[in-house]
Amino acid sequence: MLDVSPIRAFADNYLWLIRGLTAGNRAVVVDPGDARPVLAALDAASLSLDAILVTHHHADHVGGVAELADRTGAEVIAPAGEPVPHATRRVHGGDTVRLERLGLQFRVIDVPGHTAGHVAYYGHGALFAGDTLFSGGCGRLFEGSPAQMLASLDALAALPPETLLYCAHEYTAANLRFALAVDPANATATDYAAKVAELRQGDEPTLPSSIGLERMINPFLRVREPAVQAAAAAHAGRVPHDAVATFTVVRSWKDTFR
Ligand SMILES: [Zn+2]
Repeated sequence: MLDVSPIRAFADNYLWLIRGLTAGNRAVVVDPGDARPVLAALDAASLSLDAILVTHHHADHVGGVAELADRTGAEVIAPAGEPVPHATRRVHGGDTVRLERLGLQFRVIDVPGHTAGHVAYYGHGALFAGDTLFSGGCGRLFEGSPAQMLASLDALAALPPETLLYCAHEYTAANLRFALAVDPANATATDYAAKVAELRQGDEPTLPSSIGLERMINPFLRVREPAVQAAAAAHAGRVPHDAVATFTVVRSWKDTFR
């Protein structure tokens, strides 16, 4: 099992710090939007930074890359299809990122939708999904189509159910309010919402989640479920003709949900 810890940044970002398996004093950080909290965390734990994994180009994911690379000499692994400055290694879906000194390896999964070249990193039973899959929700469609995003989410949902989900934002409580508006009879989501409320009251992260849990509670992974289809039909005033149409209705419903 990986040793993964959250570094908080901005209002609700998590920059995930992964310790090497074979060299516990070396680490990897995922999506460092800000260098300062990462440098502080490295310092506090006497860790050196070997690599930076980037999922997509948004500023709150790459804002600290230049300073961290400069200060630590870490290599910067970024998706080939995204404009990420200072990348030293460009990766494509299907590639395996091997970090030999740390005993770590991650498979790169193409997940376009939130941005056009977004990737996720999967290895050692953990998924680093950036802004594609959140606990109880999914990223907004800035650069991709609903069909692309649904295919991306389906690819992540097909990972083993025990896979731990590390996403980049603490959005779980708000996502669950929406999930329960879509699927109010979902008992698993109701129970999970109570657990999430308790964690948030204690200012604890709700992550990691797991793929198995998300398949039961996340409306964006459940667009083929009759309950979600019925809610989408009621919201849109017409019956969506397929899974992409259902996804499109649920995604735009979430965009305006308060
Ligand atoms: Zn983003």
